[in-house]
Amino acid sequence: MRIDFHVHTSHSFDGRISPEELASLSKKTGIIPAIADHNTISAHPEFRKFQIPFIPAEEVETAQGDLIGLFITEPVKKGVDFYEALDSFRSQGAIPYIPHMFDSLRPGLVKEEYGKAADIIEVFNARSLERFDKKAEEFARREGKLMAAGSDSHYPYEFGTTYTELDLTPDQLQPKPLLKALKTAKIVGKRTSLLKRKIAKYFKIYI
Ligand SMILES: [Zn+2]
Repeated sequence: MRIDFHVHTSHSFDGRISPEELASLSKKTGIIPAIADHNTISAHPEFRKFQIPFIPAEEVETAQGDLIGLFITEPVKKGVDFYEALDSFRSQGAIPYIPHMFDSLRPGLVKEEYGKAADIIEVFNARSLERFDKKAEEFARREGKLMAAGSDSHYPYEFGTTYTELDLTPDQLQPKPLLKALKTAKIVGKRTSLLKRKIAKYFKIYI
């Protein structure tokens, strides 16, 4: 199974992929998205209508940086302390996943203590600079943390560039089997061009 652990829809203030479009992209590519909109889970009920497997997630902007919860049912508010968000995720059985760790150009969590408290470290983010991803990967290897990749797609053309390949079936798409399968997962990543993103934003072409 191929999973993109970090995808935004139009329910994010800066996202331009409608849930319907994402459903068709997912069908076309066979990549299952973790829908991780900024500080909201409002896309989940809409996406469920398409009856396509996905991971309900949220990317919360904590006071210290972004944190994603995978398999979330209750949203966590923007601006809370990192550990408050982490506790909230744990209490609802969600998996704490750190996106674009060490990325100081974006709200990436930069202190190692946050990475140590989470379960999964994003070691490839298609929108990050390579040096930040390398640092995240080194950290994850040293600490024995699970590793995954996310495209951080905001525009349709970004989806499909990056995914994590796991030995998992759609009916096993649950926290425990997922954590187990991640131990032997393969990262497939291709960086998206910043220039292309800027052009798309400027001309409002969301190809
Ligand atoms: Zn994101």
